[in-house]
Amino acid sequence: MTGKLLYPKIFLLSYRPKSGCKYFEVRESEGMYYAYCKVLERPLQRSVVEKCERFWETCPFRKMAARMEEGEL
Ligand code: SF4
Repeated sequence: MTGKLLYPKIFLLSYRPKSGCKYFEVRESEGMYYAYCKVLERPLQRSVVEKCERFWETCPFRKMAARMEEGEL
């Protein structure tokens, strides 16, 4: 075991993605980037990353996590 995680191409991006969502995390693998959602606790597919970048404010997962943090749920 090398301890290195290899991700399929559906997750890998050639650019560093950005999102205003505080649960959006950028990680690196093999000289590429991938996004990780701390709410869903999993890497995000490229098609989802675009939504996190552009429409993060309306993401239901983000809203739910924020409400849980505030003790509403
Ligand atoms: S899926 Fe939602 S909660 Fe997760 S990183 Fe994207 S915008 Fe944030």
